[in-house]
Amino acid sequence: MAKIPVGILGATGMVGQQYIALLANHPWFEVKYTAASPRSAGKKYKDAVAGRWNASGGDYQKEVGELIVGDANDLSQAAAASKAGDCAFVFSALEMGKDETRALEEAYAAAGIPVISNASAHRWTADVPVLIAEVNPDHADIIPAQRKKRGWDRGFIAVKPNCSIQSYMTPVYALVKAGYPVERLIVTTLQAVSGAGYPGVPSLDMIDNIVPYIGGEEEKSEQEPLKILGSICDGAFENAALPKISAHCNRVPVTDGHTACVSLEFGSKKPSIDEIKKIWASFKSLPQELDLPMAPKQPIIIREENDRPQPRKDRDADKAMAVVVGRIRPCNVFDIRFTALSHNTVRGAAGGGILNAELLKHKGYI
Ligand code: NAP
Repeated sequence: MAKIPVGILGATGMVGQQYIALLANHPWFEVKYTAASPRSAGKKYKDAVAGRWNASGGDYQKEVGELIVGDANDLSQAAAASKAGDCAFVFSALEMGKDETRALEEAYAAAGIPVISNASAHRWTADVPVLIAEVNPDHADIIPAQRKKRGWDRGFIAVKPNCSIQSYMTPVYALVKAGYPVERLIVTTLQAVSGAGYPGVPSLDMIDNIVPYIGGEEEKSEQEPLKILGSICDGAFENAALPKISAHCNRVPVTDGHTACVSLEFGSKKPSIDEIKKIWASFKSLPQELDLPMAPKQPIIIREENDRPQPRKDRDADKAMAVVVGRIRPCNVFDIRFTALSHNTVRGAAGGGILNAELLKHKGYI
């Protein structure tokens, strides 16, 4: 099968680089177009990232290094690449103002170029799905209504949620799906510096330190899960009412891997710790059934040691796409508590975006 040519918007940033690294040997997709800010536009990709290549997923391919970076704001460049057969859809990893990002992503979709985005700009748009492929793959099926409403034929916008919620949403969803609705959830996140992009948080703020504030992150952590657990109603998303979530988000001096310490309260039906472990260990979803290339074989991995998960030891589990959980124990205030970890720039960003693209291709939207 000929590979599908893809473009990366924000290709020079932390997430964009991770896309390039993870797509280097992808069986379905190949990077043929890159774009970033006017600062990088016009340079060869290898020159635009010289001195700031940070992808944990490996190096860029020689051919990608030779691509001339486009200006992501200049739609005509992507349209020309699309016409030339070099850009069937784009992954968006742009870091710019919300309004600008929203308008730009809509312009790409309107031009017939589907957008699979990491940016937060469209997470609250009523007809845009926020996908975690194992949790709500059916939300992709809002795309025909999105296209119809906006008059788009080929284009669409699908996004990923915030990287901080990836660590615990799949475990929580697995319990909900098994018949144990979660009513209240308190989470404290310990988020890696790569989550702030490059160059990110100044080293003098981070070394020997923890910063107990990440702008907008607690609101995202408290609200996005409700859209993900919600349903489609008349071409728009209706949020789930529960769980009620309280989040504390902290930036910690770890390079990659977001950790979450979670306490859960169930409704009247409460699973035992043994049942929870069984549910998590056996959890599989559509990406595993379809054996999608980026899907982890086992989406939730349980570590029984008292001192796991740890970012350095566990973030790369199963292509850095698995969520690793441990310290599953009773909670003195709620019902249970646990610690969960996932790789923020892979599972929480580029890897999750690629998995979403694989799902969308399987569903026939690209
Ligand atoms: P980053 O390292 O700061 O990279 C930002 C990218 O956007 C660069 O390619 C940059 O190009 C480009 N850009 C900046 N201003 C632009 C402009 N005015 N016009 C066009 N392109 C512009 O950020 P990041 O961490 O990769 O994050 C990218 C997106 O993913 C953000 O929306 C972020 O919220 C989201 N996200 C990040 C993570 C994570 O773990 N880092 C996780 C989930 C989601 P130049 O290099 O030319 O400046």
